Amino acid sequence: MDLTFDRRHIWHPYTSTLTPLTCYPVVSANGVQIQLENGKQLVDGMSSWWSAIHGYNHPALNAAAHGQIDKMSHVMFGGITHEPAIELCKKLLNFAPSNLEHVFLADSGSVAVEVSLKMALQYWHAKGEQRSKFLTLRDGYHGDTFAAMSVTDPNNSMHSLYKGFLPEHIFADSPKTGFWQDWDESDLESVKDKLSRHHKEIAAVILEPIIQGAGGMRIYHPNFLKGVRELCDSYGVLLILDEIATGFGRTGKMFACEHAGIQPDILCVGKALTGGYMTLSATLATKNVADTVCGGEAGCFMHGPTFMGNPLACAVAEASMTLLENGEWKEQTHQIETAFAELLPKLKQHALVSDVRWLGAIGVVEATKSVNMEVIQAHFVEQGVWIRPFGKLIYMMPPYISSMANIEQLVAAIESALNNPDCFQ
Ligand SMILES: *Cc1c(COP(=O)(O)O)cnc(C)c1O
Repeated sequence: MDLTFDRRHIWHPYTSTLTPLTCYPVVSANGVQIQLENGKQLVDGMSSWWSAIHGYNHPALNAAAHGQIDKMSHVMFGGITHEPAIELCKKLLNFAPSNLEHVFLADSGSVAVEVSLKMALQYWHAKGEQRSKFLTLRDGYHGDTFAAMSVTDPNNSMHSLYKGFLPEHIFADSPKTGFWQDWDESDLESVKDKLSRHHKEIAAVILEPIIQGAGGMRIYHPNFLKGVRELCDSYGVLLILDEIATGFGRTGKMFACEHAGIQPDILCVGKALTGGYMTLSATLATKNVADTVCGGEAGCFMHGPTFMGNPLACAVAEASMTLLENGEWKEQTHQIETAFAELLPKLKQHALVSDVRWLGAIGVVEATKSVNMEVIQAHFVEQGVWIRPFGKLIYMMPPYISSMANIEQLVAAIESALNNPDCFQ
């Protein structure tokens, strides 16, 4: 592979063009294994950023892609519909919280978030109320496009860079009580305070249910989410849940909001929707939200991406939903959670570890120092695993099909990195 060209001309995510970090050339991936150009096999600990839940090169997903590509890869969605979109949306609504009835298909997670925010704004406009603020949490992450970024943690996503352009929303403190800890009611104080003072201008609360992902891998108590739902109801504010990372079984429930027994007014899904095959996302809404939006001045929801409802992506997503329907993911994520619960506390004794946490098929080791990305990445590859840390966070969200031996290998590789001081700054 022409890695020199890559280094010189191709931008990688959150990477400098001046001092690019090493990129590892991958030629294929199968099951939980990623194969490098030099023949080395890596056990995947990332599911390609939460998405490849069934593993790579899955026969059922491959068959769906082949079957659809021979019929049509794409056709516009304006004035046209097709079987892959209809069958996918049926399955999606079956899995989703029962109050959600309308599906808007979009291109990526960030776009699904943009769509959800626009829906909330149009909703209040249709009701004749001027509401242009969103309430969200510190340490959150909702994507890299502008509106999504405006409700992402101001420090992590460097709002200072876009000052004067980026809309300014309201940030409440993120919850401190961990998922497995005793609930502390004071966690809700900040949200309560912001809602009581600003509710008349707030269109919706948007947050990641149960786990704040890219903003810090913080796994919080379900009572917080329950409390936010109650506060939204009592103040008459919509609740948008961003399940782009957590959706489709990752936390041990089909959707993370099930841990708290609550339902959102608007739900965003993405990442694992196609089992990691291609980009597709969806924003689901209640009948009340959809009817109100469309009953307003505009007469419709004002959005329609070119590749909306892409049949190829829908066909693969539908096949992924079918795999989830057999329910094996429950046992698989439970087994992975049990393995993390057994293996991770041992790492907590280590001087470089400040915290370990886990839920479902998510395991997190928080270090006391930031990693040295170049060194730790090389170390993991040397150990035969693919784990991509950021800052002080070394975390795993392996494919559900991972064996216990795979999980042990991932955790052992983290332990060996902790024993190598060069892996940290
Ligand atoms: C990844 C992510 C997004 C953005 O999705 P993209 O497909 O990268 O645009 C939004 N919200 C959450 C919670 C995410 O994890």
